[in-house]
Amino acid sequence: MTAQHVQRSDLVTVIGLEVHVQLETETKIFCGCPTDPADEPNDHVCPVCLGLPGSLPVLNEGAVEAAVKVGKAIDATIPEETRFHRKNYFYPDLPKNFQITQYDEPICQSGELEVSVEGDRRTIEIERAHLEEDPGSLQHVGGGGGIDTAEYTLIDYNRAGTPLMEIVTAPDFRSPSEVRAFLAELEEVLEYLGVFDAERDGSLRVDANLSIVEADEAEDGGDLTAETLESANRTEVKNISSHKAAEKALAYEETRQRNAIQRGRAVEQETRHWDESRGITVSMRSKEEEKDYRYFEEADLPPLRVAHWRDEIEIPELPRARRERFRAAYDLDEEAASKLTSTKQVADFYEDLASEFDPDLAATWVADELLGELNYRDMEITDLEGRLDEIARLVELVATDEITAKNAKEIVLRAMLDEGTGPDAIVEAEGLGKTSDDEVAQAVTAAIEDNPDAVADYENGDDGAINFLVGQVMQATGGSADPGTVNQLLRAELEE
Ligand code: ADP
Ligand code: ZN
Ligand code: MG
Repeated sequence: MTAQHVQRSDLVTVIGLEVHVQLETETKIFCGCPTDPADEPNDHVCPVCLGLPGSLPVLNEGAVEAAVKVGKAIDATIPEETRFHRKNYFYPDLPKNFQITQYDEPICQSGELEVSVEGDRRTIEIERAHLEEDPGSLQHVGGGGGIDTAEYTLIDYNRAGTPLMEIVTAPDFRSPSEVRAFLAELEEVLEYLGVFDAERDGSLRVDANLSIVEADEAEDGGDLTAETLESANRTEVKNISSHKAAEKALAYEETRQRNAIQRGRAVEQETRHWDESRGITVSMRSKEEEKDYRYFEEADLPPLRVAHWRDEIEIPELPRARRERFRAAYDLDEEAASKLTSTKQVADFYEDLASEFDPDLAATWVADELLGELNYRDMEITDLEGRLDEIARLVELVATDEITAKNAKEIVLRAMLDEGTGPDAIVEAEGLGKTSDDEVAQAVTAAIEDNPDAVADYENGDDGAINFLVGQVMQATGGSADPGTVNQLLRAELEE
């Protein structure tokens, strides 16, 4: 192929992902060391996760349960029996010189995940998802901290042995934005399952494979043939740690490869490193081949049988199903439904409120007021643990007309989040309780008596004079009366 023959429009971008997610368990996958962040490097280690001779791994039941949940959520086949293998390579983050992983019998096989990309639904096939242990982490020191420029490197084995799931997709993505949407959906699903914490540093790591192929290599159905995909030269971009970074790194890589092809240069099959601070991918080394890893069975672990247990493990309603149910049951638009299901905690809280109060009022309060104020403070609903009753009480105060919606939002909710006090105490301290009807009526009469000029103007046809009187009543009641009601009361009294 020559440069002249290749037009941009003839080319299709093909992307497939290998996503590593950290499973939330209390202890590591093959030993009893805690997975909590440690205060000091190399604090949460033992002979097993340091790979000392003679130590033996013991599989963590919690990690298997989490993996089964993931498998059910992505509609994967979970075989009755699976096995662990050793993947051999020599690198300082791996003290045993092999990683315990799964090879040809992974715990989850052939699943899928549906995502919406700009309104279009796409089903991304998941080839496999397997359990493995995380290596240690490296810290590059000096020389700007770059992997290729540092003066030396420190190693921390606290992370070694943390349970990971590697989720491998088919090369089904056709753009970086689809990848971003998929990763966001995947994170949501994993959080719903309670097996993943997106806030935890390094909990999501993505290796993204990208190639550019000619569109006329597609079969009649528009699908690219297996041979085309197999023979395309692809790069694997490593060091991607969020869905936003994935989109950026892949957009960069897509342009780099397209430019190379347009100039008639070949794209080399290689591993590249995403340099987040420079916003570019850099060549690392030629890609390993599977045979380089000399996989063989992990003889220290027996085959894993989940046949009966598998059926007992339950998963909650997943985000997509819940979004659709919310839209139908509470008559919500797409945006509100997606905000209200963004995490399981938000969705559960919304449903609690909607069962007690008007679902529309509850939707406004959760999707707009609460999430808006939390977002502004860089907080999550989980930061309100144990205080959701107080938020519910605030909504009750509004629903029963005890305080105005404006005061509830602008004064009470903000003070609750900033000061950690409950709603009733704030209403009391700020004197926000709605003034009784009697008091409002008295203030209306007083405003008419005290302001004869404004009354005369009104009676002479200056309708604007009523606003002045409303202002007087609002002042007298400390802003706690409803201005519309005051307006009506004034007019009624002036008509008499
Ligand atoms: P390897 O043996 O090199 O690891 P795999 O077949 O296991 O290759 O695939 C690894 C990843 O590469 C998968 O996520 C897959 O979707 C992706 N992939 C395969 N072919 C292509 C391609 N032509 N372009 C982009 N990604 C691809
Ligand atoms: Zn350990
Ligand atoms: Mg592979």
